[in-house]
Amino acid sequence: MVDLKGQYNDIKDVVNPSIQEVIETTAFVNGPQVHKFQSNLEQYLGVKHVIPCANGTDALQIAMMGLGLKPGDEVITVDFTFAATVEVIALLQLTPVLVDVNEDDFNINIEALKNAITPKTRAIVPVHLFGQCANMEAVMEIAEAHNLFVIEDNAQAIGANYTYSNGKKVKAGTIGNVGATSFFPSKNLGCYGDGGAIFTNDDALAHTIRGIVNHGMYERYHHDVVGVNSRLDSIQAAVLNAKLPHLDNYNKSRQASARKYNKAFKGIASIVTPKVSNNCSEICDTCDCHVFHQYTLRVKGIDRDALVKHLQANDIPCGVYYPIPLHKQKAYSDARYNEADFGVTNQLVKDVISLPMHTELEDDQIEFITSTIIKFING
Ligand SMILES: *Cc1c(COP(=O)(O)O)cnc(C)c1O
Repeated sequence: MVDLKGQYNDIKDVVNPSIQEVIETTAFVNGPQVHKFQSNLEQYLGVKHVIPCANGTDALQIAMMGLGLKPGDEVITVDFTFAATVEVIALLQLTPVLVDVNEDDFNINIEALKNAITPKTRAIVPVHLFGQCANMEAVMEIAEAHNLFVIEDNAQAIGANYTYSNGKKVKAGTIGNVGATSFFPSKNLGCYGDGGAIFTNDDALAHTIRGIVNHGMYERYHHDVVGVNSRLDSIQAAVLNAKLPHLDNYNKSRQASARKYNKAFKGIASIVTPKVSNNCSEICDTCDCHVFHQYTLRVKGIDRDALVKHLQANDIPCGVYYPIPLHKQKAYSDARYNEADFGVTNQLVKDVISLPMHTELEDDQIEFITSTIIKFING
């Protein structure tokens, strides 16, 4: 699904000495590379504060801790996402409220979101799934009307832009009160282990969060709040400093591959190619509205699981993200949920298939993948 080796070979000459330097200087934790990455990412995203941390799951958890959410507070998020999003809500003893998504762009359904709001609702966690933002203009409007916090799960859309209806563009993850991302190796900006970051334009929240990531310490050995130990280590920061300047190009090559896939599948009735939403209608060079963390098709009237097997038999990797709706997972099921409210997610888990997507995809690989799929469909 990803080719991390090819990408590494291209930046080896920068990454290797940079990792070596961390080792030589033994600044393993909170070293200069971490501070440099923090300011590099602040500049790239156009956000006031970046707080690096140990992984994307921690980033979400710490963001929620920083906002002072309390047990019993309801937090609305989507039924169709990676479990980390709902896991941290439950872990903090907040009440997860799962809602359905749109069938065309897989992101939070605004009507479902509106219907899920109760007097106990305190926050919304839109997930920018597969590389493009949720409808943030609508999410922010609802949040303002009901006085709710917005925590963007931006683990899959780093570098993407959100385009407002007036044409204004901002980076994904910098719109809500706080954004969280992951640098897991397969993400669009991946390090060589685990890593994550939290972003915010709110000075007071940034200060609170900087303490939380470091055992609730604002002054050495003074613990003002209950915190966690969640740091980005310097070796990972060195890798990220080497890779960040390439992120836009990495995303461009993902877009180029997506365009080639789209072209090959054009006119095939049983395949629905990914939709670009948010005031953008196509994958253009300038907007970066979709950075294709995943290239995810929906198949209609053909057996998705048989297609998966056929691709595997042809040594073509593929993935099903996600095969089970969160509301049906043992850990997150709840008697309050009504199946009728999850019609889209219940269908998507049967229809979706993600194809190989990374920065090193070659034309002949795309040609082999697409022709194998089309042959399967045509029988
Ligand atoms: C990867 C991912 C996370 C968690 O990131 P980790 O760094 O693996 O902890 C959270 N949310 C979504 C949507 C993700 O894809």
